[in-house]
Amino acid sequence: MYLLPGEEVMFDRTEDWLAWQEHAPEDYDFCPDWREPVYFVLCRGACPRERRPFACRTFPVTPYLTPGGELELRLDDDAVPVCPLVRGGDINLLDRRFLARARLAWEELIKDPRIGAHVEWESRNRDRTAGEPWRKLLR
Ligand code: SF4
Repeated sequence: MYLLPGEEVMFDRTEDWLAWQEHAPEDYDFCPDWREPVYFVLCRGACPRERRPFACRTFPVTPYLTPGGELELRLDDDAVPVCPLVRGGDINLLDRRFLARARLAWEELIKDPRIGAHVEWESRNRDRTAGEPWRKLLR
């Protein structure tokens, strides 16, 4: 999973349950506004739960900004291969308290310009690919 910009300070790299990779934003399909290195971390399938990366904390939902700028939560299509809840296709199957807290977290995070730009960029990508036939293969 990749870390959000700035999240790397939450770790000191002595965590034996994480392996680190560092990439230039242009090496992958990242938000063009990102200038700093992007950190990928790979876990070994177990972690101290209170230390888990943010990507694990709101999985399997992802933030989506409407073209009008309203924040919504959606199931993360990229998680289809690994998550039966996403394959179920109904976000309302998830616990309401979890959804409410995930929303609060993302509301705060998108105030950071780098994260806000990323969520906007991902949302427009999602709009562009929404009707592509290959997406039906995932269901
Ligand atoms: S929550 Fe799961 S995927 Fe995330 S770091 Fe922990 S073991 Fe790995």
